[in-house]
Amino acid sequence: MIQLYIPLNFLGVVYREIKQSLTDLDRMFGLLDREREVADAPDATELVVREGVVRFEDVHFGYDPARPILKGVSFEIPAGRTVAVVGPSGAGKSTLARLLFRFYDVQGGRITIDGQDLKRVTQASLRRQIGIVPQDTVLFNDTIEYNIAYGRPGATREEVEAAARAAHIHDFIASTPQGYDTMVGERGLKLSGGEKQRVAIARTLLKNPPILIFDEATSALDSANERAIQAELACAARNKTALVIAHRLSTVVDAHEILVLEDGRIVERGRHHDLLARGGRYARMWAMQQSASSEEKAVGG
Ligand code: ATP
Repeated sequence: MIQLYIPLNFLGVVYREIKQSLTDLDRMFGLLDREREVADAPDATELVVREGVVRFEDVHFGYDPARPILKGVSFEIPAGRTVAVVGPSGAGKSTLARLLFRFYDVQGGRITIDGQDLKRVTQASLRRQIGIVPQDTVLFNDTIEYNIAYGRPGATREEVEAAARAAHIHDFIASTPQGYDTMVGERGLKLSGGEKQRVAIARTLLKNPPILIFDEATSALDSANERAIQAELACAARNKTALVIAHRLSTVVDAHEILVLEDGRIVERGRHHDLLARGGRYARMWAMQQSASSEEKAVGG
């Protein structure tokens, strides 16, 4: 029996290793594909962020050029302010975030940071200046410390811990068997969507970039978790230029400007109270979410 067990066990290990490498390769090719989507211009310069003003100027884009997704989007995020984007599923909200991070190039119009066209700067210098908290954070199969320190390689344990405290994930980490040395990811401790997003916030706080993109998770969080993530987000966004893709309107109440995106166009824009007073699409969306959350409360309690 043991004679059979050892080779089978060995095969199992080999299988798992191969499967893992394939997953890594998959990811790598995914990344390479993305890199191929955009290329540095031969005379690309380093992005220099002085104030952090972000501008979208008449931006047109489609993943498939035959199917336009963004149809002439213009807005500005003044230095240190937050602009929030809301709208129905598929309107193109997350696409705005991907274009600002330059996963893809715009097909018409331009995006600038402090007047520099994203197409004319190096991708490495752009990504150094932007922190992104995506909807679905991918954790590396490594320790929780590594996953947070990834925001700023070389960060000390104290710095990692300070970022984790600010992102309200420290107590959770401290409660795991090996604390910051606990392995996470597919082969380690599995974290909930909210916990992963906090790790991403800690990463971003550690990186401390002048520009921030926050793509709020679509998956429903309970309201206590939601409020906590929003508070952490507000802390991360303080004094930074931030683009927030919001799926819950409660996130956007304090934004400098709210853009309502529908079918690739901005159909309404303004501050929360002005949009409510206007009684248009935003006001209707707000009323719908309010009644949905009061129904939830009624069902819940
Ligand atoms: P949600 O609120 O559901 O997250 P969204 O407004 O953020 O939606 P986007 O993710 O920007 O929407 O997607 C806009 C459109 O582009 C959708 O129709 C989507 O199917 C399409 N799309 C998104 N990513 C890709 C891709 N990689 N390749 C092709 N089409 C895509």
